[in-house]
Amino acid sequence: MCGIVGIYNVPEASKITALGIHGLQHRGQEGAGIISYDKEFHSQNAYGLVDHIFSKDRIIENLPGDKAIGHVRYSTTGSTGAATIFYNLDFGGFALAHNGDFTDAEYWRNKLKKEGAIFQTNTDTEIIPHLLARTKGTSPVNRLLEVLNKVNGAFCIVALLDNKLVVARDGNGFRPLVIGRYKEGYIVASESCTLDLIGATEIKDVEPGEVMIFSNGTKETYHLDKKVKKHFCIFEYIYFSRPDSVIDNQLVYDVRKRIGEELAKETYIDSDMVVPVPDSGSVAALGYANQSNIPFELGLTRNHYIGRTFIEPTQQIRNLGVKLKHSAMRLFKDKVVTIIDDSIVRGTTAKKIINLIRNAGAKEIHMRISSPPISGPCWYGIDTPNRQELIAGASSVEEIKEFIGADSLKYLSVEGLHRAVQGKGYCDACFTGQYPVNKRSN
Ligand code: SF4
Repeated sequence: MCGIVGIYNVPEASKITALGIHGLQHRGQEGAGIISYDKEFHSQNAYGLVDHIFSKDRIIENLPGDKAIGHVRYSTTGSTGAATIFYNLDFGGFALAHNGDFTDAEYWRNKLKKEGAIFQTNTDTEIIPHLLARTKGTSPVNRLLEVLNKVNGAFCIVALLDNKLVVARDGNGFRPLVIGRYKEGYIVASESCTLDLIGATEIKDVEPGEVMIFSNGTKETYHLDKKVKKHFCIFEYIYFSRPDSVIDNQLVYDVRKRIGEELAKETYIDSDMVVPVPDSGSVAALGYANQSNIPFELGLTRNHYIGRTFIEPTQQIRNLGVKLKHSAMRLFKDKVVTIIDDSIVRGTTAKKIINLIRNAGAKEIHMRISSPPISGPCWYGIDTPNRQELIAGASSVEEIKEFIGADSLKYLSVEGLHRAVQGKGYCDACFTGQYPVNKRSN
């Protein structure tokens, strides 16, 4: 996942960046970083939540300047590494934050290592400065454009080349990226919820393949050479993005509710109540309840002071997390319950939730999932496990139903999902196996 912010020409840019990445905390909780620029670069990266890292005044005071980039990190390759990276190159300083995964990361990494490059992390991000160092060109910006034309896959990038801010989104537009005006300057962020929080105006999407260069108080726009079709991640609407964000002129909350309505049309079963798994199933459950005319109940309580199980990297923490995370209200006794969640990844959370409701006295539990079964990994920046670890990669719906202990289990169809999301130009590869960009290792 990951979330990024870039600020150009705004006083106390690091303060605004800290606020901005705080608004993107749902996209990554492993670590966060900010790099600012006045006449030189200043950097702070650490593990933990934004609030913990950047709440102290002296940390922000050490990040002066009216330009800054920020990042919340969620390790997508099982790796750990700095959220924002900085390199001194032949032309000057280069600071970078990146959201997404390159599909040719392995190829570039092997090639660069053979040429003598020394990597400090195993993040995809570090490929960019190494390629930039080796690329000749008329200006640093042209060299960066050349590099961005070489790499493939998913990337949203904010970079500082000394006093310039560069913003880029890959041609498929896998991940969201928005831009707005703020005071005399600009702010760029992964989601519009951050721009709303800060009070930016004139908010719009950065288009797939668009590159913006902010320099000397002006903005220039370029386009990447490769002409590819848009493939925005449909999962951003199902789960990843915050419901108050607007993507492609659609409020995520509205889309998520339509997904729930579609789920009810396809998988209706009579029950006493519709209950979401909080918070992942909440909006879809509202849509399901409205469509089916079944009472909506917040029957499960979630402890908000621990991280999301999907985000935490190890199985051990995930198992512990589910126990600490949810508790059942005393309203399930002898009831027939429809429980809604957005997805089933490994099945461990669903199994524990159903056990919880069963122990609270429910007569029947019917699980409905507001996405199709996730049967393959994501190659474009989401840390879904590999096929063997994905329960729907190896098991039938009936087998999953048995494993989680539900009386029935039904998923939304791929067609139903597209009907609800509306429009065209989506990636749905983790459901369909139709990957728009292939991996390259040599
Ligand atoms: S594979 Fe799935 S999670 Fe990855 S970009 Fe495509 S739809 Fe999104």
